[in-house]
Amino acid sequence: MIERPEILAWLRETDPGHLSRLYRRADAVRRATVGEAVHLRGLVELSNHCVRRCAYCGISVENASIARYRMTADEVLECARTAVGLGYGTLVLQAGEDYGLTRDWVAELVRQIKATTPLAVTLSLGERPDGDLAAWREAGADRYLLRFETSDPALFAAIHPPLPGRPSDRLAILRRLRELGYEVGSGVLVGIPGQTWESLADDLLRFRELDLDMIGVGPFIPHPETPLGRGLFPRAPEGEQVPADEETTTKAVALTRLVRPDANIPSTTALATIGPSFGRERGLMRGANVVMPNLTPPAYRKLYEIYPGKAIVSETAEECRSCLSGRIAIIGRVPGKGPGGRARGARTEPPARPSPATG
Ligand code: SAH
Repeated sequence: MIERPEILAWLRETDPGHLSRLYRRADAVRRATVGEAVHLRGLVELSNHCVRRCAYCGISVENASIARYRMTADEVLECARTAVGLGYGTLVLQAGEDYGLTRDWVAELVRQIKATTPLAVTLSLGERPDGDLAAWREAGADRYLLRFETSDPALFAAIHPPLPGRPSDRLAILRRLRELGYEVGSGVLVGIPGQTWESLADDLLRFRELDLDMIGVGPFIPHPETPLGRGLFPRAPEGEQVPADEETTTKAVALTRLVRPDANIPSTTALATIGPSFGRERGLMRGANVVMPNLTPPAYRKLYEIYPGKAIVSETAEECRSCLSGRIAIIGRVPGKGPGGRARGARTEPPARPSPATG
């Protein structure tokens, strides 16, 4: 099992020859645990309203310069039908932390998607109260994504101010999601100003401790309308600051595969954004097994600007699908079929007894 000193050594490694060993190892573990399928999760960016003031995020309530939207249930159901038509197994509903998306409205939407399609439903709607999370699980939601962003409590508090009177405890919410029976996803940003190699190593170990089912690791991309994008936060000392580049992100993806061998790990849109020619493929070749094609209607998509220059902002869902299938085929992989959830039983069952014939 890979431990902290080795993780840190790999994070600090710069020699391309050595790094290719890490990438080959992560790719071999990926093949042995989750196979050649690349699962496609259709992403619907439901609403860009948000009550939070996250210093990294372009749809923070502080950004007065963007138009706000909230999709209708019919528009989301149309996206769900498109997802089925394109052969995706999962629909991911993501939004700012928007209490205009009420408990009942989301529950009814989930019920309708589950009643009319075979899709797995993943929610990524922020730090919602317990009652909301329970109601949505009850309505049939399968999975929930909530990145802890960084395991450094001081850095997290600085970039993610809590709502007045409500401490922000994402680890507690992740535990609660597990109790409710969700498949649980989390993850971090790579290269936040002030993030050190030591702290990124802690993030990766936290993935194992939480036994996460899904882990998203993407580069931090500065948004000019945010405090972090305006350079208002100090960087860690030279040599300790984690860069937000493609190499560092794919190192983190590879190490994520080594710490959580059978997790579902996306090659993120943020990685595709900073490495437009081959970034997404590199993620898939260095440990990832999931991509999240965007199904948001193009008119809304450009308003969901959590960071600038997001890959594939203007293509239609169909164009997005055909370009992705081509990209998956080129690297010798196959699109996944079905919901592609975590094969839970596989790890907990006792090893099969050898049959008499094979001794
Ligand atoms: N409101 C939800 C969904 C947020 S968007 C939530 O808070 O969980 C999903 C992820 O996008 C965030 O968790 C964050 O890690 C990432 N993100 C936000 N701003 C970003 C930026 N500037 N660069 C890169 N990723 C960013």
